[in-house]
Amino acid sequence: MIFSPPQRTVRCLAQSLRGRMKKPCKEIRRFVDSPLGKMEISACDDGVHEIKLPRTSTPKAESRPETPPRPKEERLPEPTNEPLERAVSWLRAYFWQPEALDSLPLPDFHHPLFEQDSFTRRVLLTLLDQVKFGETVSYRQLAQLVGRDRAARAVGGAMRGNPIAIVIPCHRVILSSGEIGNYGGGKAAKEWLLAHERRPKTQHSRPTGSGPAPTSPDP
Ligand SMILES: [Zn+2]
Repeated sequence: MIFSPPQRTVRCLAQSLRGRMKKPCKEIRRFVDSPLGKMEISACDDGVHEIKLPRTSTPKAESRPETPPRPKEERLPEPTNEPLERAVSWLRAYFWQPEALDSLPLPDFHHPLFEQDSFTRRVLLTLLDQVKFGETVSYRQLAQLVGRDRAARAVGGAMRGNPIAIVIPCHRVILSSGEIGNYGGGKAAKEWLLAHERRPKTQHSRPTGSGPAPTSPDP
């Protein structure tokens, strides 16, 4: 005997599946101390949604480019998930132990921006993949890297749309003239980050060869 469910049941099932897929993420937020102030991370079980710099990142002048002592870790029982923990570990290493970064896993990203292909997504992932700690790239060079030679201005727009500050290093994108250009966290924060990355990170040098040459301004 063939069982054929009534149409209504099928429809309900489809709706409920769709409902499940669209279920909003259960995001957890945490503030993490950094030399630039408290950074806010939000992540669901599937990945990091956002990493935000303080609205007014004002690194203390006397601390620049020195990194202030790492704050004592407070282990309060807080809700957490794996992407959040990875992001916290990654950021702490970024500021206080950059030589460990290469061996740390990046958290997955789950901001809706990364769920489907777009120019912004391509630009951000190319930047993440190819412009490493201590390097910079110009807006124009980054446009070239994604195969859109004339899209330097659109690259600027993509940087403004970056939901994952620092990890996706939009602070490494500067003007062709060598000037540092704008930054969501403010120019002082961008200057601090670039100076932080210029300090010798470690005794052993990183492998080179992937990505663009560290930038000097375009000719
Ligand atoms: Zn999510």
